[in-house]
Amino acid sequence: MQELWVKNGYVFTDEGFRPGNILIKDGKILSLIEKEGEPLKQQGDHIIDASGCLVVPGFIDAHVHFNDPGRTDWEGFETGTRAAAAGGTTTIFDMPLNSSPSVTSLEKLRNKREHVRSLSYIDYALWGGMTGDSINNSLELEKMSKEVISWKAFMCESGIDDFAYISPEELEQAMKAAKQQDKILALHAEWDEEIQRLTRIFKNSKKRDERKNYLQSRPEAVEVRAVSYALELAAIYGTKIHFVHISTKKAIELIQSAKASGVDVTVETCPHYLLFDEEDFLKTGGLLKCSPPLRPRKDVEGLWECIVNGWIDTIGSDHSPCLFSMKNTTSIWDAWGGIQGVQFTWLAFLDEAIKRNIPLQQILPLGTSNVADRFEISSCKGRIHPGLDADLVLVRLDETTIADNQSFLFRNRYSPYENREFLLKIKKTILRGKIIYDDQSGVTNEKYGKWIQPREGVYGTIS
Ligand SMILES: [Zn+2]
Repeated sequence: MQELWVKNGYVFTDEGFRPGNILIKDGKILSLIEKEGEPLKQQGDHIIDASGCLVVPGFIDAHVHFNDPGRTDWEGFETGTRAAAAGGTTTIFDMPLNSSPSVTSLEKLRNKREHVRSLSYIDYALWGGMTGDSINNSLELEKMSKEVISWKAFMCESGIDDFAYISPEELEQAMKAAKQQDKILALHAEWDEEIQRLTRIFKNSKKRDERKNYLQSRPEAVEVRAVSYALELAAIYGTKIHFVHISTKKAIELIQSAKASGVDVTVETCPHYLLFDEEDFLKTGGLLKCSPPLRPRKDVEGLWECIVNGWIDTIGSDHSPCLFSMKNTTSIWDAWGGIQGVQFTWLAFLDEAIKRNIPLQQILPLGTSNVADRFEISSCKGRIHPGLDADLVLVRLDETTIADNQSFLFRNRYSPYENREFLLKIKKTILRGKIIYDDQSGVTNEKYGKWIQPREGVYGTIS
């Protein structure tokens, strides 16, 4: 295979940004030469001129719902990964819901893998589901554990019929199983009993303000209670856990102190909790409905403090799409909860971080090396380093991006990010040495995406 140079960029390395040239061969980074100016020109070399660009590792979005197979009118691997590629993402981990069926058995997992194998523009891994139904079948879970990137479980209702939440007692079982398999257990942490109680009260109340009532049905305390219970169990059983889409500073403080006391825990938040607040939800309604819900502005600021403190490990889009009609319901209680954002995750997050004067070198690991390290794919992904996959993104800070409707590449063309302007632009996305997105020509026609086999850092084939 031909060699490829990415020259004259400002390259993000473990030591920060350096002017340099990257030599790529067979999809891997062969060498990184830290120097300014022209690289050695060899005949037949392909050269990408990255002058004026930051060159950063391809982003890893560990939290998307692409709904394939079964709910492709909501999204699909083809459209979801296309949108992700345009947003600088080179790897996604697809959640075990909201495909149909949900991924709760080895057969369903393998069927999904077979189904999506030719559909992806970018590399991918698949999550497995531990549910109230699958939790008792330890043999099946054991078999699945070798092929899933990690486990996902809900501590409250998921909104999907074949993905039952796990009760507090079942969570103990889940912790033991994950520990035995040496896998991470990722949790949607909201305390179900309390949500049910508050929802009943607010749905029956005479003074109804539905949007406000929805927020009141899932207050901070609901998240905090679930997080503290899960942390207690993780400390007892020694399980590796990962909290997805945490929305409050208080929960992150609990996680941070558990971490300090030796619990093997990491935490993700999402750009929507860092950009929007509950006032935006009250004004906008369904489009910004998610769970946990958007929080008061002081919590948004609190989350940014946590980021500055280094207390948040990863950022995920939690791209959870649906038909527009499912957002545009008469009652907010009936609207689908989920944010469409996969194309704008990194643009939105980096843009806001830059405006807050947080150094990029502090921010970038949350979408790259931290994710690769936690989910043990750092032998192939997450850094610009010789021997690793040449997954690169070329970014300009002197150009802007407008999230206009015509540019949306996900299936259903609506998003709360619509019409926002970001003070940066993704010029190219490169997956294993191939340009898969270019801001002039768009996303390539070829789908190069491969399944990432957990642990070994090599690409698997279906057995
Ligand atoms: Zn999710």
